[in-house]
Amino acid sequence: MPREGGTGRSWAAALRGVLLASTVDPRAIQGGFVLLVGVDVVLRLVGGVRPGLSLPAVAVLVAVLLLLVTVVARGRLPARAVGAMLVVDIGVVGLARLAPDGGSGLVAVLPALWLGRLHGRRGAVVTAVAAVALVTVPGLLYTGPEGINLSRSVIIPVVATIASLAVAGGMEQVEHQRRVSAATLDTVDVGLVLLDEHGRYVAVNRRHADFMALAYPAGHAGRAGQLGLVYDVDRVTRLGRESMPTYRAARGEEFDDCRIWVGEDPMTQRALSVSARSVLDEAGRFGGAALAYKDVTDLMRAMEVKDEFVASVSHELRTPLTSIVGYVQMLREDDTLTTQTARQLEVVDRNAHRLLRLITDLLDTAQIEAGPVGMRRTPCDLSALVSSCADAARPAYRAAGIGLEVAVPDALPMLLDRQRIEQVVDNLLTNAMKYSAAGTVVRVGLAVEDGRAELTVVDRGIGISAADRDRLFTRFFRSRDAEDRSIQGVGLGLSITREIVEAHGGRVEVDSELGVGSTFRVRLPMAG
Ligand code: ADP
Repeated sequence: MPREGGTGRSWAAALRGVLLASTVDPRAIQGGFVLLVGVDVVLRLVGGVRPGLSLPAVAVLVAVLLLLVTVVARGRLPARAVGAMLVVDIGVVGLARLAPDGGSGLVAVLPALWLGRLHGRRGAVVTAVAAVALVTVPGLLYTGPEGINLSRSVIIPVVATIASLAVAGGMEQVEHQRRVSAATLDTVDVGLVLLDEHGRYVAVNRRHADFMALAYPAGHAGRAGQLGLVYDVDRVTRLGRESMPTYRAARGEEFDDCRIWVGEDPMTQRALSVSARSVLDEAGRFGGAALAYKDVTDLMRAMEVKDEFVASVSHELRTPLTSIVGYVQMLREDDTLTTQTARQLEVVDRNAHRLLRLITDLLDTAQIEAGPVGMRRTPCDLSALVSSCADAARPAYRAAGIGLEVAVPDALPMLLDRQRIEQVVDNLLTNAMKYSAAGTVVRVGLAVEDGRAELTVVDRGIGISAADRDRLFTRFFRSRDAEDRSIQGVGLGLSITREIVEAHGGRVEVDSELGVGSTFRVRLPMAG
């Protein structure tokens, strides 16, 4: 499991774990007691007390026997049995005192603390009664109400009871805090999970228990990475162990908005957005992880409806618009037009084309959202494709006063979806022109590197800030600079570009500096 080796917990942390754990191992309790009694005996021996088969020796024997019982029971003793064992321990202390130079009564404080810790106020009452009956009374009977012994016999139960009460009070507070936090966590509308450093579930709130019931109808073992009815965003692909949010979080990964679907039935299936953060211990080492699961089903369904709507509206708009563009084209070819009409038709043509591009982009986006883009790959020459796109863009570049230099190899045969890759090149050329000023030059290059075709489009335009670079390929994202300069666009081109390139098994990257220029790089595998 995660985080093994080299991250052993410190002794202090281990000890605190024992003290604060909700269930305490009786072996640890009795072991501690025997140790203390043993230290008491050894110190007395060192101090010159003669050992013999006396009552204190019997007392030590009883304590050791109880320790053996806990070991044989492998620490699995009911709470009442542990309480009884602690009462016997107090009796052991009482017995040990029945000898000249017998054991120290102070040792009774240890079982008293545990009684308070495990049984609260009732434990404190039991402590008081047991200390009086098993320590004070036998002590007084043995030595009589004289001098120092009288004082000790009375003070031991008082100190033990106060210690027991103090611990019981502290535990009550802790328990109250625990209940308040549990109630608070149960009221929030977000599923919450806390994992320990080994990926075990430490706490789960009620909301998350609902999600777990959907994902694991047959139950959950309480460990990170268990496979269940957990699906990827496509709702079909089951998530593997390595992709499970809990598994990733248990490996120390931190993330936001990891989208998953849980449940099998489409009617009750829920979409969750998961975030994870590591919990570090005081030494800064990984000590577990906290995960939050937000229900985003309504949002996802609304997005689906929106995409369907956009797709159908775009489709309905595109058909008449294509016919308008076609007829305007025919009209413009008429030689008898007056100059003014020709200019007016040119404006109509330009705007109709713009509208068509926008609608095509919207349609593409909706299709991409609906599922991975299907590519129809055919053999084609990428060099020729890039050159022809550049030729088509030249008039617009000339009108904008921007130079366009193209350097491509003679031929670069590949297997591509020609139309889609043309769309990619067009998008990059249009952007380079849109975001550059007159007088600058855009350079287009194509080369083969490490078995991949690499297309570069370099401009000396407005550039992109580091903060914006990460979001550039997100749908509808437009940089503040682009907005401020009123450069037309809707922020779809690059997201479509990336989808197309990735559907070809490639990658698109950008290097840019604000005010200096940008380089867009598209890498496509030659084999594909
Ligand atoms: P659009 O250009 O329609 O806004 P894109 O998806 O093509 O949409 O681009 C998204 C954003 O990325 C743009 O709005 C712009 O802010 C930024 N961008 C894209 N290309 C460039 C470039 N060559 N130079 C500077 N900024 C760019």
